[in-house]
Amino acid sequence: MSQAVCILGATGSIGQSTLKILAQHPERYTVFAVTAQSRIVELAEICKQYHPKVAVVPAAKVDHLASLLLELGLADIEILSDQAGLMAVAEHSEVDVVMAAIVGAAGLLPTLAAVKAGKRVLLANKEALVMSGEIMMQAARDYSALLLPVDSEHNAIFQCLPQHYFDAERNGQPKLGVSQILLTASGGPFLNHSLEQLQNVTPAQACKHPNWSMGQKISVDSATLMNKGLELIEACHLFAVEEQFVTVVVHPESIIHSMVQYVDGSTLAQMGNPDMCTPIAHALAWPERIHTHVPALNLFATAQLNFQEPDTHRFPALKLARQAMKNGGVSPTIFNAANEISVAAFLQQRIGFTQIPQIVEQCLNVMQNQAAHDLDVIIATDQQARVLAQQYVMKLGS
Ligand code: NAD
Ligand code: MG
Repeated sequence: MSQAVCILGATGSIGQSTLKILAQHPERYTVFAVTAQSRIVELAEICKQYHPKVAVVPAAKVDHLASLLLELGLADIEILSDQAGLMAVAEHSEVDVVMAAIVGAAGLLPTLAAVKAGKRVLLANKEALVMSGEIMMQAARDYSALLLPVDSEHNAIFQCLPQHYFDAERNGQPKLGVSQILLTASGGPFLNHSLEQLQNVTPAQACKHPNWSMGQKISVDSATLMNKGLELIEACHLFAVEEQFVTVVVHPESIIHSMVQYVDGSTLAQMGNPDMCTPIAHALAWPERIHTHVPALNLFATAQLNFQEPDTHRFPALKLARQAMKNGGVSPTIFNAANEISVAAFLQQRIGFTQIPQIVEQCLNVMQNQAAHDLDVIIATDQQARVLAQQYVMKLGS
């Protein structure tokens, strides 16, 4: 029986890689729904190739998509709009698998809707988990959703963990001999920049990642190491560990995607060429394995793997993420929201690169922390942190 897939964020980098794998396995998967915020012409092209039942776009873009689909003879594709549309496809009874690949907080409600509908949820949208934390993890348990990490590092960790890690965790026998998680980081395009050089880098330079081709926001996050900060928090939630349990290792070649250490002295690593199609295919088919176009690793060509400690002086993001995770409560929500606003401001050249972590730090220091009881608290905090971060952006930009 083929599985019906809903791709939230189909026009993005992860969305496109997902579609590429689905196209390779038409007997296993059908595309039920695709969504996009912009690039409506590309979305129509996707509809032409994959013929989903539903497409979701912002209300203001429905007419544009409708006319494009009409021209293509695809008027039978239903068009839904906005958050309600995203949630409707994410929880739709005909859907088996949801790829959560919207960028940022906008993906929270649809991702959570998929979790609450008990789907197999392939989690790329790390911001949704960082901001909602235990609420999403608890929902996954309550509604028997299969929340599988697509982020390459977390997917690697998942592959290196003992088979019964999550069952043991639930039965009060935690860790099964796991002693440490080693989260690898490429270090981004500015790994060897001095603090002075960092002050003058441009959005174009920040978006040019040495190993991965990704959306703009995550590219900037990789350059500031905010991405690794978000991933540290993501790992704590996914694998039920404290922040001290996760060590960040800078590994510029991005061949080892992360590692798990055990009490007997073993270190297990997952390796591969840096291509998101591998973790996407893994999460789609797990526990089976399916083919991708990604070539097998050639270690003779790779020749060298290097490792170093992250420099939290030039890249304070990791320190801030650890602080947010230690604080608990809504601190990670503040961390994420302040970062989203700062990254957008940097991309618009309203603030400098090194001001991104400064604004995040200010927001974490100034805003009152509180317990993250429920979604309303999370959403209210997210909004407040955005307003505050905008105020700092305006102050710095003037
Ligand atoms: P992207 O910018 O290329 O694509 C984002 C997608 O989300 C697009 O389809 C866009 O239309 C949609 N979108 C944007 N804003 C939206 C909104 N407000 N409402 C609804 N839809 C919206 O981003 P990406 O690089 O594909 O990353 C997507 C997610 O996956 C991010 O959370 C990122 O951190 C994560 N991720 C990406 C990679 C990667 O290699 N690109 C790797 C690991 C994790
Ligand atoms: Mg990653």
